[in-house]
Amino acid sequence: MNTRTTKDWQAADASHHLHPFTDFKSLAGKGSRIITRADNIYLWDSEGHKLLDAMSGLWCVNVGYGRRELIDAATKQLETLPFYNSFFQTTTPPAIELAELLAQVTPPQFKHVFFSGSGSEGNDTIVRMVRRYWDLKGQPERSVIISRHNAYHGSTMAGASLGGMSGMHEQGGLPIPGIVHIEQPFWYESDRRLSRDEFGLKAARALEQKILEIGADKVAAFIGEPVQGAGGVIVPPATYWPEIQRICDRHGILLVSDEVICGFGRTGQWFGCETFGYRPDLMTFAKGVTSGYIPLGGVMVGERVAKVLIEEGGEFAHGYTYSGHPVACAVGIANIKLIQREGLVERVRTEIGPYLAETFAALAEHPLVGEVQTCGMMGALQLVKDKASGEMFDGKLEVGMVCRAHCFGNGLIMRAVGDRMIVAPPLVMTKAQIDEMAVLIRKCLDLTQ
Ligand code: PLP
Repeated sequence: MNTRTTKDWQAADASHHLHPFTDFKSLAGKGSRIITRADNIYLWDSEGHKLLDAMSGLWCVNVGYGRRELIDAATKQLETLPFYNSFFQTTTPPAIELAELLAQVTPPQFKHVFFSGSGSEGNDTIVRMVRRYWDLKGQPERSVIISRHNAYHGSTMAGASLGGMSGMHEQGGLPIPGIVHIEQPFWYESDRRLSRDEFGLKAARALEQKILEIGADKVAAFIGEPVQGAGGVIVPPATYWPEIQRICDRHGILLVSDEVICGFGRTGQWFGCETFGYRPDLMTFAKGVTSGYIPLGGVMVGERVAKVLIEEGGEFAHGYTYSGHPVACAVGIANIKLIQREGLVERVRTEIGPYLAETFAALAEHPLVGEVQTCGMMGALQLVKDKASGEMFDGKLEVGMVCRAHCFGNGLIMRAVGDRMIVAPPLVMTKAQIDEMAVLIRKCLDLTQ
């Protein structure tokens, strides 16, 4: 048994552990909150406090914590074959079975998968794959990839370059060449004189303008998250994605859907592109594929690209030691079967997602909230300075941090993105648990006011 006290943990943490997306100095002498166990949708810290995890860890624990099927699948695979790779003409049964299963649950154009260890690595694979595709098509000058401001596509050099986070671009010489960004479909932040649908068309048409500016013969692909997650759960107007699809088709550009957050039921369909009605050529996935129990990611390769890579490509000089890791794949198989058996995707679409939407609609009455957005089991509260005019907070956006601190102090894990408070709870959450979350949210909004 581990007998360290919280203070011991925190001292060792502060001395040795550099945390992601953290001001390292901020932990000096203070340390972090130490999360020690979890069950269903709850976490406990080292001092025994219970927290309702409204973020599914980091948007990944779709089936909730403590699921025996996933634990058993990992244990069994660890005992049988803890590791072997899929390089050099070998592979393992779990990698094959998961590839087969993914071909069944993804839209019909997808028959092939390339595994990675994470979403970031998946998006690095995307960059190499789309450029390889155009090389093989005899159009190597088609190399530019268009993405969006405030998108998040990972932390590797290519992932962070595809992403449109200015704070990330300021560090380490990003973006890498050949990646450009257009506006995001964030209606509330616009001047709001256009209706949402008009704004959706306008935001999508920024893609066409960029293509014309660069020259269509130089553009390889467009990449987007169905709903921008880390950017603040920005649900695009219904007109946005169909217009993006039309523009990509018109100019022959590959359409890439980053489903790292939206995949595996979060939006009420298996994949976000199905919710928003577009047909990507490639899809990145991670997180929900194993419900975060173990790292795994990858790229679904649609027939248009797969045919060229397979028939004309020769060796694709790319791969990761952990591409198709057997233990991760075994957990992925168990996770997908559990989602199927419990009908979680349909549950999000018809029952629990609509209940989250109703609950958030009621929270829209709060004086600090300008608007709410939900999509399946994702939601955002836009905090505003002035409810009547909808004037947003400017400057340093401290309000989200204040609200988040109240959440943390009151047993709720909710995330702040600037002045947007967001949730992405496990898909297994019950209505009673949504009510419980709403009581906590309301309390924290009151404390923030
Ligand atoms: N793409 C999206 C849409 C994400 O939200 C994330 C992570 O949050 C990534 C890619 C990167 O995934 P990972 O952190 O597994 O590398």
